Amino acid sequence: MPDLEARLASVTAEVEQAARDAGRDPAEITTIVVTKFHPAALVRELAVLGVRDFGESRHQEAQPKIAELADLAATWHFIGQVQSKKARQVRSYVDVIHSVDRPSLVDALAGGPLDVFLQVNLTDDPARGGAQPDDLESLADRVASTEGLRLRGLMAVAPLDSEPRREFARVRALSERLRAAHPEASGLSMGMSGDFREAILEGATHLRIGTAITGNRLLHG
Ligand SMILES: *Cc1c(COP(=O)(O)O)cnc(C)c1O
Repeated sequence: MPDLEARLASVTAEVEQAARDAGRDPAEITTIVVTKFHPAALVRELAVLGVRDFGESRHQEAQPKIAELADLAATWHFIGQVQSKKARQVRSYVDVIHSVDRPSLVDALAGGPLDVFLQVNLTDDPARGGAQPDDLESLADRVASTEGLRLRGLMAVAPLDSEPRREFARVRALSERLRAAHPEASGLSMGMSGDFREAILEGATHLRIGTAITGNRLLHG
């Protein structure tokens, strides 16, 4: 717990510093603590330390964990790939999905209530998840016209071996283009433990930070 508190405080200070360096108000940036591979007890410790936004990426793990934590006043973000046949279950226990990347998934999530980020694939590898940039506009139209879904913006993961600042600048440009037709889609979910400073400099509104706060301990059993 002392280590966890120290890591959380240090990341929070770095986020605030990066925001000031970018001439931004730190209050406009939400830090989502990614708790995948960690037990519900760690989420409770983080909640005691004041964390309200949590991220999970695997349905099998997230469903029982979030059920166990139903008494917490938390906002749950789903950040991993979602199989269409599991979409309705995921919808039932999270508040925000960051990984919407295809029309069939939009349809499967209909009814909400759910906040939606469209994931952009910054690579040529479809297995990485995310929509190709050319498909974002039609996907956004579909979310906007689907009952119960609220379009929030774009999400991206900087590819390995890339220059993250340049990748995030690309996402920012895509976001500006998208906002011509969808002004409400002003959110930018980007920045992880290794690259959140670069993301903040390029306008990130939602950081998804795991190991820099939680450490590396794996969930057993
Ligand atoms: C695990 C994960 C993160 C957090 O990664 P860290 O490097 O541990 O901060 C962020 N986004 C996605 C999509 C993830 O799967």
